[in-house]
Amino acid sequence: MAQSQPCVLVVEDEGAQREVLKYNLEAKGFQVVMAENGDEAMLLVAEEQPDLIVLDWMLPNVSGIEICRRVKADPSTRQIPIIMLSARSEEVDRVRGLETGADDYVVKPYSVVELMARLRTQLRRTRPASMGERLSFGDIILDAAEHRVFRAGQPLHLGPTEFRLLSTLMEKPGRVWTREQLLDRVWGRDIYVDTRTIDVHVGRLRKALMVHGGDNPVRTVRGTGYSLG
Ligand code: CA
Repeated sequence: MAQSQPCVLVVEDEGAQREVLKYNLEAKGFQVVMAENGDEAMLLVAEEQPDLIVLDWMLPNVSGIEICRRVKADPSTRQIPIIMLSARSEEVDRVRGLETGADDYVVKPYSVVELMARLRTQLRRTRPASMGERLSFGDIILDAAEHRVFRAGQPLHLGPTEFRLLSTLMEKPGRVWTREQLLDRVWGRDIYVDTRTIDVHVGRLRKALMVHGGDNPVRTVRGTGYSLG
């Protein structure tokens, strides 16, 4: 696997529907967290920073639309893609009309195959390496599906951790990652690793990237972490 797998937050008040979604998402290798109401959902958005939200329209108390508005109004969460589920197509028309900022809409009863396809479409945009896309940065090419890296046309040999690290950095060139963020993404959220470990692996990654020459593309951001370019 290219990185820790994308985390999907499912917000749905009906237990049976929630379980079906969890089962299907986990079968596709996604990490799944679940909320049954708006308050839980907002808490999990903050705590887990999911990569995507599947959000039911009809929820008790805080509606799906209101959750969508809140997520999209916050600069730290607005980039998270949201797929809204609704019972009727008229609702979808209303959601669209309300301009909640949802990224896609699926009408219930939906086919799991269709929902998964929509989900992958969103994640190809926001988590391209985890979806097996080919990424490039300068003269570096990372082929996530083939698990190969080239620089200036020459194949490079990266260890599995260095590969996940590079794919994370290449998904968002220029973004400054803290060591904690990189640990979550590269090692996984529930694994304890000393933050100094990341420095060791960044060192190995730099060495591997420069083995045939070329500049060091991984910048150290003093007091913060690392950035590509
Ligand atoms: Ca519902």
